[in-house]
Amino acid sequence: MPNHPKLPSDLRPATLLVHGGTERSQWGETDEALFLTSGFVYDSAEQAEATFKGEQTRFQYSRFGNPTVAMFERRMALLEGAEACMATATGMAAVHSAMLSHLKTGDRVVASRALFGSCHWIVSTLLPRYGIETAFVDGGNLDEWRAALSKPTAMVLLESPSNPMLDLIDIAAVSELTHQAGGLVVVDNVFATPLLQKPLELGADIVVYSATKHIDGQGRALGGAVLGSKKWVDEVLQPFIRNTGPSISPFNAWLMLKGLETLPIRVRAMSESATKVADFLAEQPQISFVRYPTRTDHPQYALAQKQMKGGSTLVAFDVKGGKEAAFKLMNAFRIIAISNNLGDSKSLATHPATTTHMRIGEAERAKLGIGEGAIRLSVGLEDAEDLIDDLKQALAALG
Ligand SMILES: *Cc1c(COP(=O)(O)O)cnc(C)c1O
Repeated sequence: MPNHPKLPSDLRPATLLVHGGTERSQWGETDEALFLTSGFVYDSAEQAEATFKGEQTRFQYSRFGNPTVAMFERRMALLEGAEACMATATGMAAVHSAMLSHLKTGDRVVASRALFGSCHWIVSTLLPRYGIETAFVDGGNLDEWRAALSKPTAMVLLESPSNPMLDLIDIAAVSELTHQAGGLVVVDNVFATPLLQKPLELGADIVVYSATKHIDGQGRALGGAVLGSKKWVDEVLQPFIRNTGPSISPFNAWLMLKGLETLPIRVRAMSESATKVADFLAEQPQISFVRYPTRTDHPQYALAQKQMKGGSTLVAFDVKGGKEAAFKLMNAFRIIAISNNLGDSKSLATHPATTTHMRIGEAERAKLGIGEGAIRLSVGLEDAEDLIDDLKQALAALG
């Protein structure tokens, strides 16, 4: 029979991420077992009947639940300090399950404008198809939130720091306004990671992750997670996921479990390097500005100090000379790769105006402060000095 390690309840994150949620099989394996199975067998027809009646709790089918997936969900919940978690196949499955499980025709949704591209599409295009009213606000402007939330609102979706310019949103203030409007706050916490920002402690109700990013952190697999209260997860989210099927593969959940073991040391090392890279870039004459939440020149530095425990693994900066200079710089990189992914052990650079944020158009990009020279750099696990040398030689190529 499965055994639960007798873990003390007050463990720190690094320990939780190695041991939390583990459930060993009768073989006593050290590593979390990979249950690569779609279904489960019953001892008797009576047991199958009792399970379907809900009189017995056991695994039935991997769309509903799986032992490896359950270990990943428990470890995530312990890390986040959430009552419950459900894993999903991708980050977008997490975002859309969190929203569509809860919303119905006639509801209203307010979102910050600076959202991951597909999240923006869900709010601007998908939800209105089902008769859900949606509104976007400038996430950094509390007056806009106040005005938008003066009407009854079912849900708020926000991302802080935002993609790609690392703008921040006051999660505590927006949560208070949303609760007054009768709604729930969903925070897409990918950029901050579960280690550097705790949305639930700040007043948010639901946290979503693309586990594809820092949680896997090694560019191998897609995954996602939704975290919230046990009541909401059991009554609202779980029926939606069970019946619509955005479930994660046990194999990917196993990769994510292993990713979580090293998450604190990776995020710490990558954030330290990101700080060094941001400080280096800020001194370069070819760079017009650098955005990094723990630099005192970040426009929302005070808010970063209040709600974040670190600056994250991402740096945004703007190259003088627009697209031409930005492309020249990126093409000269020898170590940093051009890719729209982030949170990877490999450093990755993207030019948002021509890739991730091309479709939203120039006017919308201007509102988000995404210039033609803007580059988003996801800092990896390479030696920071090698990354700075790579940036130096690429900047020299600019002339
Ligand atoms: C990547 C990402 C997503 C989507 O996650 P997938 O795993 O690619 O589906 C959502 N939000 C943010 C902020 C992301 O970076």
